[in-house]
Amino acid sequence: MINRMSEQEFVASFDEALTNHHLMVYYQPQINHETGRMVGAEALLRWRHPAKGMQYPADFIPVLEKNNLIYQADLFVFEEVCILLRNLLENKKPVVPISVNMSRYDIYGHSYVADIETIRKKYDIPVKYIRVEVTESSAIGGMELITRVMDDLHRAGYIVEMDDFGSGYSSLGVLKDLPVDMLKLDMRFLQGNIGGRGGTIINSMVQMCKWLNTTVIAEGVETQEIADFMKTIGCKYVQGYLYAKPMPQEDFLKYLAETDHEPMDAASRLMDTMNNMNFWNPDSLENLIFSNFVGPAAVFIYENGNVEILRVNEKYLKEIGMSRTEQEILTENPWECTTPKCQEEYTNAINKAIKTRDEVTFECWRTICSKTCGENKICVRSTIRLIGEANNQYLFYAMVQNVTAEKERYRLAEEDERRFKSAFEHANVYAWEYTISTHEMRPCFRCMRDLGLPPIVKNYPDTAIEAGVFPPEVADMYRELMKEIDNGRTDVDLIIPLTVGRIPFHVRYTTEFDESGRPLKAYGSATLVVDNPAETPAE
Ligand code: C2E
Ligand code: CA
Ligand code: CA
Repeated sequence: MINRMSEQEFVASFDEALTNHHLMVYYQPQINHETGRMVGAEALLRWRHPAKGMQYPADFIPVLEKNNLIYQADLFVFEEVCILLRNLLENKKPVVPISVNMSRYDIYGHSYVADIETIRKKYDIPVKYIRVEVTESSAIGGMELITRVMDDLHRAGYIVEMDDFGSGYSSLGVLKDLPVDMLKLDMRFLQGNIGGRGGTIINSMVQMCKWLNTTVIAEGVETQEIADFMKTIGCKYVQGYLYAKPMPQEDFLKYLAETDHEPMDAASRLMDTMNNMNFWNPDSLENLIFSNFVGPAAVFIYENGNVEILRVNEKYLKEIGMSRTEQEILTENPWECTTPKCQEEYTNAINKAIKTRDEVTFECWRTICSKTCGENKICVRSTIRLIGEANNQYLFYAMVQNVTAEKERYRLAEEDERRFKSAFEHANVYAWEYTISTHEMRPCFRCMRDLGLPPIVKNYPDTAIEAGVFPPEVADMYRELMKEIDNGRTDVDLIIPLTVGRIPFHVRYTTEFDESGRPLKAYGSATLVVDNPAETPAE
């Protein structure tokens, strides 16, 4: 029967617990389940009250945090870990890195990194044997403080783990802003649901971490089913009851002596780079590829209808940066420079990419404001692909192309055509274009309206003859005429009665030839032959 202590009892007996060794550290092994070897362990605080028995962190950690005692507790754990490691090193026993938990309260009003460094140096422990676990909630008080602490940890050489990732608070945004080297994905948040959405989320998180070159440890692994699932998606590091429960130091020493161990993959390389968020590390291979071997590209997050750009490369800046800096692009809200229609297209494309898991290409106009160039409207063709997914967040890779000039040419051509059409409209002229190689005829707007022709008339003139544009008695003559145009005749200028009403029209053709003199197109026009009242008496 558990005899839980009250908040007052914890607070009142804390000092006594520290001095009388009622507080102690348990160790839970972390395993590579592909090899069965140990890769590390996590230090977990326990409180054994002489009368009330074993107390668990879930009950006393929040109390210690609330009463400003957690800092002392965490430094106590850190020192216990150093003592254990010194003992192992001294006795030439196998050693694995130990992770310690840092409370988010440890960073307010304390010099956490300086203090643990003093302890570590006192016991002369190489920094590679200690990892620090932080939770995302450390960022609640603002990114600045936690970022500074993490930078300090990195500078001192510690590997920083993000604890409890996937707890719902998690955000990829925090992940890219905080320089973490490892992620701990807590399987307990999955609640056994690996077949469904939970499994998909975990899978894409693991893939995304691979892409970011971040090591993943699955914690809280209780069943073989979950362990197997994690293995199939390529997560080889695990911590959980299935393998080993947290155990007192004595048992852990035995376990350590009996179990083979190996370094964690990234951990050794990490010591060189100090920061395993390779994608954000300017010297990394990922970054080299992103910066030099792909075209203009960006990486962005989509969450609840919002887009946040995480990275853009140099070529992106050249292509559509319009003299903005990367910083300016990252801090602005991309929706602010797009029309609602464009946002809709963008969102549709994103949803399609999420649904199909395939590349989606779309175009949209953006208004870009830059300090030096003022406002500019540009048309951007984007090809996007989903590369990661977590909770409601989707990570995308986007290739972009500035197609403004292309669009502009197209628009001018359209405008020309519109002007051309209305000019004919005013001049009472019917006009059309005939392509000799395909026998296709493109009528002007008036032809379409008055003669009921489609935008492209195939198999001209037969189709037009069938449609009744030419009365039967002139049909053969007209076919013959078109054949001559096909063969390069240039002097077509005659009067033909058209439509069922046999209305006389003055029909002319101008033929266009290529360099070798082959006829390409013929431009036809027809104007109504108006009876001239002044001429009638002369007839
Ligand atoms: P945590 O950091 O997420 O630690 C992992 C917790 O999950 C531990 O609980 C561990 O016993 C438990 N666990 C490990 N494998 C399994 C499993 O397969 N199934 C289940 N259901 N649980 C598993 P514990 O030791 O009770 O610690 C609870 C929390 O208390 C820790 O969660 C951590 O947030 C906090 N904590 C523990 N020790 C310290 C400490 O020294 N300092 C600080 N600041 N917090 C600590
Ligand atoms: Ca932890
Ligand atoms: Ca955890």
